Amino acid sequence: MKPAPFRYERPSSLQDALALLAEQGVETKALAGGQSLVPLMNLRLARPDVIVDLNQISELSGVERAGDQVRLGALIRHEMTMSDPTVRQLLPLLAHAAAHIGHRAIRTRGTLGGSLAHADPSAELAVASLALGAEVEVASTRGVRLVPIGELFDGPLSTTLAEDELIVAVRYRVDQGRRPFGFAELARRQGDFALTIAAVTVAVDEDGGCRAATVALGGVGGSPRLIGPAARALIGTRLEPTAIDLAVAAVEHTIRPVADLHGTLAYRMAMAALLTRQAIAMAGGAR
Ligand SMILES: Cc1cc2nc3c(=O)[nH]c(=O)nc-3n(C[C@H](O)[C@H](O)[C@H](O)COP(=O)(O)OP(=O)(O)OC[C@H]3O[C@@H](n4cnc5c(N)ncnc54)[C@H](O)[C@@H]3O)c2cc1C
Repeated sequence: MKPAPFRYERPSSLQDALALLAEQGVETKALAGGQSLVPLMNLRLARPDVIVDLNQISELSGVERAGDQVRLGALIRHEMTMSDPTVRQLLPLLAHAAAHIGHRAIRTRGTLGGSLAHADPSAELAVASLALGAEVEVASTRGVRLVPIGELFDGPLSTTLAEDELIVAVRYRVDQGRRPFGFAELARRQGDFALTIAAVTVAVDEDGGCRAATVALGGVGGSPRLIGPAARALIGTRLEPTAIDLAVAAVEHTIRPVADLHGTLAYRMAMAALLTRQAIAMAGGAR
């Protein structure tokens, strides 16, 4: 199918894009990589009146190191997230996660901002960004605000962004010393959306003890989520098997995935437990 008719705008400044999004009385959608929006429009599941193509806006591009943060522009493509030297060095979990997205053709167009705004519960970059404690820079004609990533997602394919707001960039703190990570994903075929994802970070002392941790899961509910009790079970340990058992038990107590075509509740619980175990073991092995 083809999309319903729409007005196409291609502003070259952020200010012009925000003004277009603020227009009253029309449904307006931002277009980034188009890898999620265009299929939805072709299926007529989305019928915006106006499309605001972000691709000419240079303010939305680039990777910047600023003090203790790395700031990634919303338009950074998944392939760049995988290959950019700063991202690989300072945010290796993000680079690793991006490599699991779809196929190369999708990764060369799809963007970080688009992925977070699309809010798929199994999106790799969303799960990794949660584990990394990212903050999302959001702009509208009313100003700029910073949204902790955990407050961005609001259910399947739904965010707390207002209709006139754009994700401009995503900020990641990189001042926490060495942070080994683990990442594990289950998908039916390579390139498919994940059924379940686990991403783990640990901060380790010189003696190899864990002084901080995050555990994030995708595909276990309407939104990707942090599992605080699982992270707390790892702190103060050396990620030994008993500590991992406790973290996995905390995951099992906390989540309630929804059974669907791809798996029963029991299967999804078992996969979340297994992938958490694998991700923690990977982080532990990298200490
Ligand atoms: C075959 C296929 C397989 C895929 N597999 C995976 C996968 O395994 N894992 C995965 O995570 N993704 C997967 N994707 C989706 C892909 O990662 C998309 O790139 C991503 O979900 C959306 O990014 P986009 O830049 O293409 O956004 P678009 O499709 O352009 O936009 C998506 C939504 O976000 C909004 N939006 C875009 N940019 C912004 C912004 N800066 N601020 C506010 N709102 C914005 C749009 O208005 C729209 O509602 C797949 C896609 C396809 C077609």
